[in-house]
Amino acid sequence: MPKQIFTEIQSKKLKKLGILNSLDLLLHLPLRYVDETKLDLIKDIRPGFMCQIEAKIISIEVSYRPRKNLTVHVQDKTGELKLRFINFYPSQIKQFEEGKILRVYGEIKLNSFLFEMIHPQYEFIKIGAPLKNFYTPVYPTTEGLSQKLIFKLVKKVFEQENLDEQYPDYFGKLYLEKKLPSLLEALQLIHKPKKEYEKKLFDEKTSIFHQRIIYDELLAHQFFFRGKYHENKSYKSKPILYSDSIQKKFLNNLEFKLTNQQQLVFLEITNDLNQSYPMYRLLQGDVGSGKTVVAVMAALQAINSGFQVAFMAPTEILAEQHFEKIKSWLSPLGIEVELLTGSMNPKLKKRSYEKIKSGLAKLIVGTHALIQEKVDYKSIGFYIIDEQHRFGVRQRLALKEKSESNKNFEPHQLMMSATPIPRTLAMNYFADMDISIINEMPPGRKSITTKIFASEKRNQILDTIDQNCLSGNQVYWVCPLIEESETLQLETAERTFQDLSNYFVNHKVGLIHGRLHSKEKKEIMEEFKKNKIKIIVATTVIEVGVDVPNATLMVIENAERMGLSQLHQLRGRIGRGDKESICILLYQKKLSDIAKRRLKVIYENIDGFKIAEEDLKLRGPGELLGLRQSGLPSLRIADLDRDQELLSIAKTDADFLLKKRPKDVLMHINRWHRNYQDVGRS
Ligand code: ADP
Ligand code: MG
Repeated sequence: MPKQIFTEIQSKKLKKLGILNSLDLLLHLPLRYVDETKLDLIKDIRPGFMCQIEAKIISIEVSYRPRKNLTVHVQDKTGELKLRFINFYPSQIKQFEEGKILRVYGEIKLNSFLFEMIHPQYEFIKIGAPLKNFYTPVYPTTEGLSQKLIFKLVKKVFEQENLDEQYPDYFGKLYLEKKLPSLLEALQLIHKPKKEYEKKLFDEKTSIFHQRIIYDELLAHQFFFRGKYHENKSYKSKPILYSDSIQKKFLNNLEFKLTNQQQLVFLEITNDLNQSYPMYRLLQGDVGSGKTVVAVMAALQAINSGFQVAFMAPTEILAEQHFEKIKSWLSPLGIEVELLTGSMNPKLKKRSYEKIKSGLAKLIVGTHALIQEKVDYKSIGFYIIDEQHRFGVRQRLALKEKSESNKNFEPHQLMMSATPIPRTLAMNYFADMDISIINEMPPGRKSITTKIFASEKRNQILDTIDQNCLSGNQVYWVCPLIEESETLQLETAERTFQDLSNYFVNHKVGLIHGRLHSKEKKEIMEEFKKNKIKIIVATTVIEVGVDVPNATLMVIENAERMGLSQLHQLRGRIGRGDKESICILLYQKKLSDIAKRRLKVIYENIDGFKIAEEDLKLRGPGELLGLRQSGLPSLRIADLDRDQELLSIAKTDADFLLKKRPKDVLMHINRWHRNYQDVGRS
């Protein structure tokens, strides 16, 4: 055991940064670096640049009006410069004495034709004191932990004996082949880059030393996911056989023909179901690409082989809608479809439970309720999880645990997501799953035209709405998402509802929002579906999955507040039938830069995968993948966008190492993450 390096107080502060031991500290990498290896001359400085100057104090000036100000005038042999302090201690004033020599570092600003530095970093020195021969690291920090102290502690860690033993390279040959430095060398140079290196590479975390650390982190990450992937294949499932006759019957009744990609994806799924280990597959496809029917066909296989199937949706509206649709597809085949949601009345619920237990219910559509303790399946063989991104990843695991207690074999799982992410990222990131992608829309879809209006011009669109309703079509009016206040959101929705109701006396207007009871929600959606309600004012409850092909116009208020994927999902509610659709985005002035860029992306693109790519650029993968709420071990240093190439190398290597070097894999995982410990169970 290495001896205690940090004092108790230091440990406490370090803990705030998530640093629990010396390795954590070494992995607490600098955010950027300061170049104190050379001096600039005052005559050469330019505003906006970071500079280091060595100069003599020529005068000091303290003023209290209009605000507190300490100005120190300094001079080198080429010019003069002002150092300005707004927050300062009286003791600081005394420090500055005429004639003293200073080395200052900071950004140059131009203030009424004079150069100055505000709150520069400074140090009193003797003339000719040597300059640093390394770039100075700047760490993420917390109150009470100065940069100097962190640097000192890092140094202390590196000064220990037997460092090589403490930080061995588990896969030495691999690193050698890749021309990557050793872990220790990498860490040492990241914390103290020699001035011979190009600083930019360190600032951007693309130096070879960073690459080594990032690769290691991604490797740990892939050990986790690929470990799960292989582990999954070691479980037992009962193979589900393909039946041609049942599929034919189903397809004969279906009101449309499958697209090529729907067929291909269905084949991939059938192939999985046919194995004696569980399917664990993510089906990605843009909004409206027709994932549901593929899932139902897969369900049909399972039912035909004597299993029950659970079809889980994130909201009650969606569950009910799926239920209706699936019932209409499967009832003609004599298959009993059942609904189970949390808000169903106790009597109905009880009946559902019974049917599920007796095995009478073959396909059960529902919400979360489907995986709660009270549900006792007779023979669950297949879970379908719609809009998987809405559940977060943990749900997936919970599902597994539940079924494990049921039987000696695992049910198959199909997850569906309409938040498409670029293919390579999906494959590498969701490396614990197999992935299928539908990348084509059913034929005959008419295009959606997107228009953008400033909110004050909203009256101009009333006419468009009127025309739309008169020609028999329907309208969504989506009210802003007000994160801070649900009440406020509700108020806006209600006001809009009133306004529109007063204006459109001849068209029925409806209002739907999250606070309504599910029965009311259902009734309103029903009326909308039946074209009784012409204009529906909605909060973002309609975001996922609602399918009313006759709705051809959507107005989205405060579109500037919404994320790209949300806007895309919302817009995907229209353009579902064979008529041209229009989506009108209203925005409130004045737009932030990021909002402008988002609106531009949504205006110019209709393809969800393309939008996701842009989203990736704007937000970064962490947000895009919902990593924060996923409950999965997060990445400290690697960046899924910047490091995509390394990620895919790490994935391949992880597969190899998991097989050949399981012990070292565990060591590596332990080094990297306490959370990764349940890997490699098999
Ligand atoms: P999503 O992939 O967003 O879940 P859905 O499964 O809800 O999309 O499908 C959207 C609509 O397209 C539904 O009304 C569905 O019945 C219809 N649909 C699905 N596949 C086809 C197809 N091949 N041809 C025509 N319509 C289709
Ligand atoms: Mg769907």
